[in-house]
Amino acid sequence: MLRIHDVSKSYHNQTAIKNINFEILCNEFVCLIGESGSGKSTTAELIMGIQFPTSGVIEKEHCCTIQYIYQNPERSFNPYWTMEKSLMEPLLLKKEQLDSSKRRILELMEMANLSSELLQRTPSQCSGGQKQRLAIIRALLMNPKLLIADEITSALDPESEKMIINLLKKFQVEFHMSVLYITHRIQSVSNVADRIMVLKEGTIVETGSPSQIINQPKHPYTKKLIEASYYFENKRLKGLGQPRQA
Ligand code: ADP
Ligand code: MG
Repeated sequence: MLRIHDVSKSYHNQTAIKNINFEILCNEFVCLIGESGSGKSTTAELIMGIQFPTSGVIEKEHCCTIQYIYQNPERSFNPYWTMEKSLMEPLLLKKEQLDSSKRRILELMEMANLSSELLQRTPSQCSGGQKQRLAIIRALLMNPKLLIADEITSALDPESEKMIINLLKKFQVEFHMSVLYITHRIQSVSNVADRIMVLKEGTIVETGSPSQIINQPKHPYTKKLIEASYYFENKRLKGLGQPRQA
């Protein structure tokens, strides 16, 4: 559905992306992993068409509608509006029927395990995890063929992160779409990803299935990412076992 050929992107003579090549197939859950500054958001913006490649070509199928979910859920919602108003707005712009739109929103909220009460709240009255689930629903209302989630769980605790990733997987299967999930935490996606791509300094250094990447990483950078990821996970679990400080 989407193919990237030899794409590079420089900002003011500084190269952010160097000759990357990959494709995203229909119904595929692809993860893009790399540390901060490796070029993950630039890759997403190139796919979205909000940045243009300095060289190379991005081929998209004609029907490939894309939705983007931001790292910061505040960017998805108007702080003064109720969640209902924010969710309904794009549907009303598309001239959809009011009651069928409302029904669709409630259906998706039920799938996401969210109470309909949240619709009457403003963003500041919802938790981070609730806001990101509502941001996913807002994106789904546009019937995307590809959903790009750019570090959408990086401000959340690991349990909320797991719930959101599982929800994205459920929606991906149910609505026959592809997901490009961007993160720096490699082990969080091991159960859902069809394929993982590892980005380092603007170059894809390794691609494979989660078991290949996690159990038999080839590139030293991938090994480093996995070690860092497990180190923080172990530290967190140890912390949980200790008596809480007042
Ligand atoms: P990531 O999302 O992996 O943290 P980014 O794609 O945001 O990485 O950034 C990759 C590199 O490109 C960084 O060095 C960053 O400073 C630079 N960069 C990103 N966006 C811009 C921009 N709009 N203008 C100039 N430099 C940018
Ligand atoms: Mg980024």
